[in-house]
Amino acid sequence: MIKLSDRAWRELGIAPPFLPAYFESNQPDVSPTLQRGAVPKNEKHAHPATRSAESLAEIAHLAWEQLPAAVEACSACVLHQARKRTVPGVGDHPVRWLFVGEAPGSEEDHQGEPFVGAAGILLDSMLFALNLSRQKEVFMTNVIKCRPPDNRTPETTECHACMPFLERQIALLQPKIIVALGRVAAHALLNSEMNLGSLRNKVHAYGNIPVVVTFHPAYLLRNLPEKAKAWADLCLAKKTLDQA
Ligand code: URA
Repeated sequence: MIKLSDRAWRELGIAPPFLPAYFESNQPDVSPTLQRGAVPKNEKHAHPATRSAESLAEIAHLAWEQLPAAVEACSACVLHQARKRTVPGVGDHPVRWLFVGEAPGSEEDHQGEPFVGAAGILLDSMLFALNLSRQKEVFMTNVIKCRPPDNRTPETTECHACMPFLERQIALLQPKIIVALGRVAAHALLNSEMNLGSLRNKVHAYGNIPVVVTFHPAYLLRNLPEKAKAWADLCLAKKTLDQA
C-alpha cells in the first residue's frame, strides 16, 4: 500500500485506520502481465461516418503544438455549435499519467481547461494523494473536447467524432498508465460496453499502455463512500506503473 501523510488521507476523505481491513478484503485482480481478457483489442477503433478519411489522416499527423488549434477548428459534431471554449486538455508533456474524463462541464466550457469545477477539485486531491499534480507528470483530458448541452451524456457519434483527437494525444504523450474516469472514458478507451463494476479492479490495455478504470469524480461527489474504492483503483494504477 502507498504511504500517505494524514493530510492526504483526509483530502481523500478516507480515514487511515479503516484502510487495512478494506484492502485485505478487496485485493485487486492483478497479474504481472496485463489482463486483456474480457476487453476487445482497441487498436482498430471504428469511426463510422463521422469523419472523412482525409480528416482522420490529418488528425493522425498533427504535432503536439497543433492539437489545440485543430480541436478549436473542429465542427465534426453538433457540440461545436453551443460551446464557448474547446477543452483540449492540460498538463505536462511527455507524461507518465494520463487521466481521461468524459466531457467538459460548464466551468470547463468557460475556462477552456478540464476538471476545473467541483469534480476537478476532488481529482486534484486524488492527484495530491499520489504526490502528483496537473503540472507534474500528469496530463488530463476528456473523450469529448466540447461541452454537451446541459452536461448530458455524450452521444456515441460524438465520441466517435472526437476520439481521433484523444488517440493522437495518446500517441504523442505515450503515457505509462492511463486512468479512465467513469463509464464513457472506459468504454471509449477499451472499446467495451461492460459496466463499470466489471471493468474496475483489473488492468486493461490501450495498445501496449496499461489502463485502469475508476469512478468519475463527479460520481464520487454524489457517492462519498465509494472514494475508498477509487483510492484502491489509483493504488492499482500506481502499482502497475511502478512494476512496469
Ligand atoms: N467532468 C469531466 O468528465 N471532465 C471535465 O473536464 C469536467 C467534468
